[in-house]
Amino acid sequence: MSASEAQYLLRCVTCGAEYAGESAPEYVCPGCAAKQQAGRPLLGVLECVYDCDAWKRGRRREAAASDMLLPAAGGVHHGLRVGNTPLYPSQRLAALAGMQHVWVKDDTVEPTGSYKDRATALVIAMARARGCAALTCASTGNAAASLAGLCAAAGLRCHLFVPAGAPRAKLVQLAAYGATLFAISGTYDQCYELSIEATRRFGWHNRNTAYSPWTIEGKKAAAWEIAVQLGFTVPDHVVVPAGDGAILAGVWKGFADLKRLGWIERMPRLIAVQPSGADALAQAWRNGADGTAATREHAASIADSLVVAAPRNAVMALRALRETNGFCVTADETAIIGAIKEVSSATGVFVEPAAAAAWAGLLVARAAGLVRQADTAVLLLTGSGLKDIPAAARAVAEPSAIPASIEAVEARMRTAPGE
Ligand SMILES: [Zn+2]
Repeated sequence: MSASEAQYLLRCVTCGAEYAGESAPEYVCPGCAAKQQAGRPLLGVLECVYDCDAWKRGRRREAAASDMLLPAAGGVHHGLRVGNTPLYPSQRLAALAGMQHVWVKDDTVEPTGSYKDRATALVIAMARARGCAALTCASTGNAAASLAGLCAAAGLRCHLFVPAGAPRAKLVQLAAYGATLFAISGTYDQCYELSIEATRRFGWHNRNTAYSPWTIEGKKAAAWEIAVQLGFTVPDHVVVPAGDGAILAGVWKGFADLKRLGWIERMPRLIAVQPSGADALAQAWRNGADGTAATREHAASIADSLVVAAPRNAVMALRALRETNGFCVTADETAIIGAIKEVSSATGVFVEPAAAAAWAGLLVARAAGLVRQADTAVLLLTGSGLKDIPAAARAVAEPSAIPASIEAVEARMRTAPGE
């Protein structure tokens, strides 16, 4: 066993079947997948379960935190630096929320500008171990840009299924990386089904969120980093923007692994935030459902990364909320747009609408009395504002041109807000 390779099995979160070694499926549990209905959350998502005792033996937690519990032999290095992003305390956000401590986990600095790089890095490592030379995924934009960028670094081919209506910056970004783009006249959910069909037909390796268990496992890394950055204490709350629910599931998995290893004493409470117009998870949460039927007919929001009608990882996401005594809130469009400017101006981290939703959700939870003044919270800032300038433009007053004179500057200063 290499330094970063851990012994593991894959357990189906739907039926509990376990798979190990050569018999392990590449994606979802075959028995459950046979019952899969189109346009529904995935059945048979696989969770990676480790022999924690064997892995922990002889490791000091400080040293082992950089040698993270992962299934990939030789780690996930492939040319670009992924993860180890900053955790900034924000006194200004804390003051605005009426709280003692709020931190922001800045994943806008990932190589392709979003949290998705964490999942992609591990998927590519596992695909390479299987000798795959071409990958694919369906995406609202960020996962596709991530796969395109990291495949470019690794010298792998990449075929992407993205709704044609995705923000232009995301489409241009992945095209610049040299990926083949199928811009589909349809929804993300249709792209998802199509990419799986193409995977079967063309023999590509699939990185779809939750369909590949490594997307969840890769996304746990932020939880490890937060624990290290806070000295192996955990915040009271971690606020996670949720579309498919895979980041939520990944963050839960990261903290759960740390707890199994005995390196943290308790789990943080997870707070999922969805846009009001794409709230399939939130509805299932309110109804006490298990997530297998968490869908809504139509999903729409300015937070394009969260526009999902059938959250693929709903079962695991709702379990994560239940097991951490967490909850799911929704934020409306006005709150999300306002949050873009509030987060960016209070922290210096320019965020896309989905990331801003984390802040909007924290304010909703505070107003509802679900988060207390003395509590601590970490917001996951999952994507850069540069990904969607038209959305950010709705949050600010764009300046009109003035003459190139000091008098005009003085006149502008008299009318500028906040001067
Ligand atoms: Zn199963």
